Amino acid sequence: MGRPATVTINLDALRHNYQIAQQLSSINKAGIMAVVKADAYSHGATACATALADIASGFAVACIEEALELRVAGIRQPILLLEGFFEPTELDKIDQYRLDTVIHHQYQLDALAAHPLDHPVRVWLKMDSGMGRVGFAPGEYRRAWEQLNSLPGVKDIVLMSHFACADEANSEHTQQQLTTFNTHTSDLPGQRSLCNSAAVVTLPEARSDWNRPGLLLYGVSPFGQPHNIEQMIQPVMELSSAIISIKTIPAGSSVGYGSQWTAQQPTRIGVVAIGYADGYPRHAINGTPVLINGHRAPLVGRVSMDMLTVDLTDLPHVQIGDRAVLWGADLSISEVAQMANTIPYQLLCNLNRVPVHYQGALMTDFADLGQALV
Ligand SMILES: *Cc1c(COP(=O)(O)O)cnc(C)c1O
Repeated sequence: MGRPATVTINLDALRHNYQIAQQLSSINKAGIMAVVKADAYSHGATACATALADIASGFAVACIEEALELRVAGIRQPILLLEGFFEPTELDKIDQYRLDTVIHHQYQLDALAAHPLDHPVRVWLKMDSGMGRVGFAPGEYRRAWEQLNSLPGVKDIVLMSHFACADEANSEHTQQQLTTFNTHTSDLPGQRSLCNSAAVVTLPEARSDWNRPGLLLYGVSPFGQPHNIEQMIQPVMELSSAIISIKTIPAGSSVGYGSQWTAQQPTRIGVVAIGYADGYPRHAINGTPVLINGHRAPLVGRVSMDMLTVDLTDLPHVQIGDRAVLWGADLSISEVAQMANTIPYQLLCNLNRVPVHYQGALMTDFADLGQALV
């Protein structure tokens, strides 16, 4: 019992989505680096990686702490550090735990050159082909590759870049990035890796040896506009809670902080035990849908830290204790994100405080694993 707010993770849906990503990537029998950074977009990195362990080619994370969590949980596939290391001392761990590392800057290359390794490492050499964030400039890429290639501690070099606008249809910028990357790597040997979720779906010409989908695996469309991919993937997460109070207020009464919403008529107000401390967006506007017993009720008034309020006037049968779904299979997180003027990535990453429950075929294994770690 206790507070009813719950995140439910459907690991079968995760596996389904992985297989969709794989089908989309299958042109070159490509590998998939399942992106599980930020605790698998709050889906639980260990649980997700374990659920994918028999099918995934590898996993990608943002930092060494995230990588070690997976190694400690028994993940044996390649694990890629998407930003490489932040300090040279991390190279010991990269060596010990056999991690793949991105090299995106000369300071990392110099540190690697100066650091003896027991096991040669696979390096993902990142080009800034137009994202404008990290990576070697196209004109410096070949020299970086040559320097890396001369290091005895380097086993393979994967040629890598990242798109800025892959979620936009027919983006000229994306085509330019692709041309830049291809031009400056055309005579370099080695595997290639370009695609995030959006590119996996819409840019067949960019799919290559390794693709790097994240959001898609969690069953969420990477596109701001409706897209057919939504019919192929299954949302992995459901965020739910329950109605903890119902009362009818007279016309003219207001609801919530700032008294920002006022009833125009007698209104049945339901209170749901979820708020922005849980990661539900405070900026969700009036009218944002909440599913109560499967029926949509509009959010009214400001979202509080631990509660939010919905108009149940049109749902007279709803009672205290009834379930409220904030997002999930029947209410897409993308719709809620739009109502809150943000993106599903941020809603997922902001989740907090809500206990996570797992469903799916592999849960017995994972339960054993969890106990072993306690
Ligand atoms: C996060 C990340 C991805 C995954 O992005 P999605 O849009 O979630 O598919 C891929 N590549 C890099 C370098 C990333 O940082």
